[in-house]
Amino acid sequence: MPDMRSLLRVRSESPDVPIDLDAIDPKSTPGLPGRKVTGKDPKLWARAEVERIGAELATQQEMLFAQAAVDDGQGRSVLLVLQAMDCGGKDGAVKRVAGAMNPLGMHIKAFGPPTAQERRGGFLWRIRKALPPGGYVGVFNRSHYEDVLIVRVNGLAPESVWRPRYEKINDFEREVVDGGTTVVKVMLHISREEQRERLMQRLIDPAKHWKFNPSDLDSRARWDDYHAAYAEALARCDSDAAPWYVLPADRKWYRDWALSHLLRQTFADLKLSYPQPDYDLAAQRRRLEADG
Ligand code: AMP
Ligand code: MG
Repeated sequence: MPDMRSLLRVRSESPDVPIDLDAIDPKSTPGLPGRKVTGKDPKLWARAEVERIGAELATQQEMLFAQAAVDDGQGRSVLLVLQAMDCGGKDGAVKRVAGAMNPLGMHIKAFGPPTAQERRGGFLWRIRKALPPGGYVGVFNRSHYEDVLIVRVNGLAPESVWRPRYEKINDFEREVVDGGTTVVKVMLHISREEQRERLMQRLIDPAKHWKFNPSDLDSRARWDDYHAAYAEALARCDSDAAPWYVLPADRKWYRDWALSHLLRQTFADLKLSYPQPDYDLAAQRRRLEADG
């Protein structure tokens, strides 16, 4: 099994040195086995693997849920933070990968521009409220990172406001991890060309018109500024406790395959199992058998 975590983990010399995103090819497929394993159609192979791993993820998630259920919600939780440029594939990844798990145990939240009320509580207020409870797998489709991305690029707040947020984010994530949540942060990394293709599809296909927002073109025009903001956030907020991964995402089938593996590895670390009954199993069976 490929070690996706070491393959995709951002490598920063220091928090002060931004991650070189240009050095990561969005079309690349790190960890993907060769044709000997995949056969001649890696895409078909990867899709089948996503299904297979999805079933494993579902079992792991059920164990997580079961553990919390017997411990009165005191169990651990997992939080996947997804960030990407527009059309980066966040929705697709949620559908294909998170969709393999039981909706009953999922805590999925998408973050748009904060309302006036949300803003009042500070940028982490709405994030805290959305954290997955014990036993749940949470997914953030966008996150508190927008507060050092779009906010920075569009000048929604002055630097004196957004710059101190890196430290605040690190403190916050440390607290979340210490509270029993495993945090996995993934940037889906697409190329400018692929984004153009996908935006164009949204303008061509009537079933996709609703996904297009004219402001997406304004963001696209600031591609380099966004990448600079990502590069700095990834370097400053990567830690062993709450690691950042950059996942090449031009190929959707690779994206889903790699993300499935990342989650699988994350679950494996938790060494989950179904909880032992806190009642006398044999006695209860005898009781039921006698009730013929
Ligand atoms: P979408 O994910 O396509 O539904 O778009 C959501 C929009 O909300 C994106 O343009 C985000 O940049 C924006 N957004 C999310 N969080 C924030 C935030 N904290 N401040 C400003 N805009 C945000
Ligand atoms: Mg959008």
